[in-house]
Amino acid sequence: MFVVFNEPLAKSLGLDANKLQSEESAGIFGGNAVPKGAHPLAQAYAGHQFGHFAMLGDGRAILLGEHITPSGERFDIQLKGAGPTPYSRRGDGRAALGPMLREYIISEAMHALGIPTSRSLAVVATGEAVMREDVLIGAVLTRVAASHIRVGTFEYAARLGNPDALRELADYTIERHYPDIGEDDEDRYLAFLQKVIERQASLIAKWQLVGFIHGVMNTDNMTISGETIDYGPCAFMDQYDTDTVFSSIDVQGRYAYSNQPLAARWNLARFAESLLPLLHDEQDKAIELAEKEITRFMDLYEAEWLAGMRAKLGLLDEEPEDAMLVKDLLDMMQEYEVDYTNTFIALTFDKMDGVDLFTTPEFTEWKDRWQARRDRQGVSADASMQLMRNSNPAVIPRNHRVEEALEAAEEDGDLQVMDKLLAVLANPYAHTPDQAEYATPPPPSEGPYQTFCGT
Ligand code: AMP
Ligand code: MG
Repeated sequence: MFVVFNEPLAKSLGLDANKLQSEESAGIFGGNAVPKGAHPLAQAYAGHQFGHFAMLGDGRAILLGEHITPSGERFDIQLKGAGPTPYSRRGDGRAALGPMLREYIISEAMHALGIPTSRSLAVVATGEAVMREDVLIGAVLTRVAASHIRVGTFEYAARLGNPDALRELADYTIERHYPDIGEDDEDRYLAFLQKVIERQASLIAKWQLVGFIHGVMNTDNMTISGETIDYGPCAFMDQYDTDTVFSSIDVQGRYAYSNQPLAARWNLARFAESLLPLLHDEQDKAIELAEKEITRFMDLYEAEWLAGMRAKLGLLDEEPEDAMLVKDLLDMMQEYEVDYTNTFIALTFDKMDGVDLFTTPEFTEWKDRWQARRDRQGVSADASMQLMRNSNPAVIPRNHRVEEALEAAEEDGDLQVMDKLLAVLANPYAHTPDQAEYATPPPPSEGPYQTFCGT
């Protein structure tokens, strides 16, 4: 039974949305029927999980196949939670309704925020129970991604000790995601490494700019395409605090908000290591080349992030002091424990009431500096504000709102709460009055939010 179906996504993929919502299709989306001509498979991969290496694979994901859209784009269509696979280890290969709807909501919100991500086409309830600590409602998510090739896929190929297999994977991935790299390019694999680093630097900057915390940035959860993937214990930050961690299992804060760029760089170093045999015949030279590229990551990331912060502050040009202007604001935000998203909205619309920070002399001084900086750029105040409106979301999937929607769906079979939330999240930069009720942070009484793995 369909719980939710993504009509706009189906249409953009060139699929017949009406036909797909039939009883017969529910069988396919529930993993009980194989579409004609498809040869489903589970992918093998390896991964560093919280720093420790393991041979893994799609334990509960089945790749139905690739789909080519009318405009010629290629996507993987994958079922998550359809049952055991050769890589399930001790798991049951199943998924529960709540976490699959959670992935649906957050991945679609990320897409609407303009962040590269896997997307969600449907969630189907299987009618079967899933045993966790409680008995849960079984469900299958249909995920659409540019591909599911991960850093861990390369770690797996590298461990096979077969340079031909590694080269084959690299060639396939280059053709699929980086077709601009020439076949005869002498530095083909170095260019590949460079481009993956660039895409990840851009992606992580986008996460930081909206306050998204992935929660489990293991190498098997990092794509080579540069899309966000694997929505497990992820969550958006309400109050600005660089130490924020939501995942109950991340006790040391390895994947805390401020550590995400470092974790990405660490993962990319594992990717570079896997590519070493392709970078140079001599290992020392290969290592030297790889290290040089990994060292560039932070600069690339910081440039992307600062560009994004300039946009959030309505700055269309660059001045050397901008980094300091941003830092001073963020330091105050951390000290005064303000809401991250709403602070930028207050700045955008110049509506600064009800927040202690805005009444302090240090903020007034900062605001004057910012105003002078905006005045110097020689564009209209309107153009600057327009940039801010387009760079500062009015709504993010706030955890208490997501929980409320999931509770209604799981406990009462009421999907309206989620549908309304999805509709609001689909246009985060609309700044319409109906978004206001979704913009408020959770009441403080709710205490710190925690997310759980093993979902
Ligand atoms: P994740 O933390 O979601 O990246 O998952 C880590 C590994 O565990 C992946 O290889 C998953 O496919 C696998 N996995 C997670 N949940 C299950 C499950 N219920 N059954 C089998 N494998 C699972
Ligand atoms: Mg994973």
